[in-house]
Amino acid sequence: MASIFTKIINREIPGHIVAEDDNYIAFLDINPLVEGHVLVVPKEETDYIFNLDDKVFSGLHLFSKKVAKAIEKSVDCIRIGVAVIGLEVPHVHIHLVPLNSMNDINFSKGKLNPSKEELEEVAAAIKKNFN
Ligand code: 5GP
Repeated sequence: MASIFTKIINREIPGHIVAEDDNYIAFLDINPLVEGHVLVVPKEETDYIFNLDDKVFSGLHLFSKKVAKAIEKSVDCIRIGVAVIGLEVPHVHIHLVPLNSMNDINFSKGKLNPSKEELEEVAAAIKKNFN
């Protein structure tokens, strides 16, 4: 069965997409830790990041770097934190989380539940700053 992220890639379900190329896509986490929390995903569906082939693995990180630069310009933060968890969705993704404090990347804390309009606004800003 296709993962929830493949459904976003295929536009079968909505996602607030901020960047995309032939092999990778980035969209907002639907329940972010903080505003501007983005997931970067290889289009090829693999469960575990360390099972990616080297080319996809390195490309994913290079794409994430470009997305992080766009988030930096769009959200008030000191820097962008990076995490890989993957315990919920079995399709590789890198979390990019704007940081103002250590607690901003604490996955045990409660997550946010922004409105569609709030998500649209931050997605538009990141998309504009992606190049
Ligand atoms: P992980 O697999 O790294 O533990 O967490 C998966 C992440 O995907 C969570 O932060 C969760 O909020 C996010 N997520 C789960 N379902 C969806 C969805 O349908 N759309 C989006 N944009 N994010 C999702």
